[in-house]
Amino acid sequence: MSLEALLFKYFGYVSFKPGQKEVISALLNNEHTMAMLPTGTGKSLCYQLSGYLMRGSVLIVSPLLSLMQDQVEQMKRFGEKRVVALNSFLSKEEKKHALAHIEKYKFIFCSPEMLQVPYIMNKLQSLDISLFVVDEAHCISQWGYDFRPDYMKLGEIRQVLGFPLTLALTATATTKVRYDIIHSLGLVRVTKVEATVNRPNIGFYVEKLADYHYKEQRVIELVSKLEKPGIIYFSSKKAAEHMANLLVEAQICQASAYHGGLEQDTRILIQQQFIHNQLDVICATSAFGMGVNKENVRFVIHYHMPMQMESYLQEIGRAGRDGLQSIAILLYAPGDEQIPLQLAESELPSEQQIDWLFQMLESQQILKEEGTAFLNEWKEQGGFSDIQWRIITDFIQRLVNDNVQLSTIIEMVKEFTKKRLSSKRRSTLLMKQWVELNTCRRRFILDYFEDMSEVRQHSCCDNCGLQIEEYYPSLNQTNGEIEGNANISWKEYLRKLLINGGLNT
Ligand SMILES: [Zn+2]
Repeated sequence: MSLEALLFKYFGYVSFKPGQKEVISALLNNEHTMAMLPTGTGKSLCYQLSGYLMRGSVLIVSPLLSLMQDQVEQMKRFGEKRVVALNSFLSKEEKKHALAHIEKYKFIFCSPEMLQVPYIMNKLQSLDISLFVVDEAHCISQWGYDFRPDYMKLGEIRQVLGFPLTLALTATATTKVRYDIIHSLGLVRVTKVEATVNRPNIGFYVEKLADYHYKEQRVIELVSKLEKPGIIYFSSKKAAEHMANLLVEAQICQASAYHGGLEQDTRILIQQQFIHNQLDVICATSAFGMGVNKENVRFVIHYHMPMQMESYLQEIGRAGRDGLQSIAILLYAPGDEQIPLQLAESELPSEQQIDWLFQMLESQQILKEEGTAFLNEWKEQGGFSDIQWRIITDFIQRLVNDNVQLSTIIEMVKEFTKKRLSSKRRSTLLMKQWVELNTCRRRFILDYFEDMSEVRQHSCCDNCGLQIEEYYPSLNQTNGEIEGNANISWKEYLRKLLINGGLNT
């Protein structure tokens, strides 16, 4: 049976999206594979289809609980019962039950933290693992924008599991990060599948405003004119809430805020309303988007400047998955770069916090048996945020595990935060540079990712002559498109028949 026939048999699609077939062929050929496939191109299908064609289980490491849950739910909806996620969402009983019957599952999702638990590793070691998948593999690299210390241990985990066939997946990674992924996982001889990061149907538009205070008014204007649905990204929950209220009060559209501060149920409800066209606009923080499959998002506006090119590309990549013309708008006001710079600083523990904590440690004499659990009361005393605390405890763990001197650990933590901070500063300055460009914005992004794709399109970016008015539907009614969100245009319908759907991420 050809791969296309198998694709149809298992998923009902007639053709592969770019990169998918190469990845699956390499895996079936027993080659370790590193795949860089943009958001929305069906990364999970690569390991799902391969998994069906292999004897044993597929172990998927994923850093985000919400993403993991989404994927599990989606696979269950497709009728796959042999799927489980080992993470903190499971109750003690559920976890016990899942582990007792672990060999019955074809697809096992696991958070990196769970892989640090000895009895879980014992269970996994007893399994026949045909494929080890590292999702969001850029989290391995200190140069990656979303570095996770737990991910650095995945190379050792592979070793313990007997070096299973491995697939590393990422949406966006620079050459340096891709190199780190391969080395950190200890992959010898690896097949690289790198799809272009270019999304030709998304136009880039940067608008510079004289003052930050003009942004609200400008968003209202844009949202009332642009074809919807759309997503507006903010760096703060408060700003997202405020804008959503403004849009509703001004009767511009149905809008809702979405951020990490909302209850899980509320977040799911908002996602569903957006997917089913009951909401036109989502005012979101970066918490929104992972695992949300909505094909017809027509615009993504950035109210605040993102912290780095990688997350910018992921966020705008939520537009135009149906292949139709869409626009990414970034609103910039002087001084905007201060927000991501401050955010970067707040994510890392300060020198004072580090000194304070290590003085406490010195005076207390940590006992090995106690591990790091007793430290938690110091988290609050020292004013550490969750993210700062995760970094600190990871280093202190080495003090316990690897018998490293306290003074060495202090140096390591300080060196680490210094490096992270300067790397984050560089990323923000690169975004600023992109905003200030007067040459092609797309070319700049492609060059950053060392993507050789050619740029030759009409609606490319504001510096190549893109006019925002092209995206106002009232001016373009002569082309026979049916308007409105609920109705599907004939063009869109035809397109759906021609390309395979976006059911998989
Ligand atoms: Zn351009």
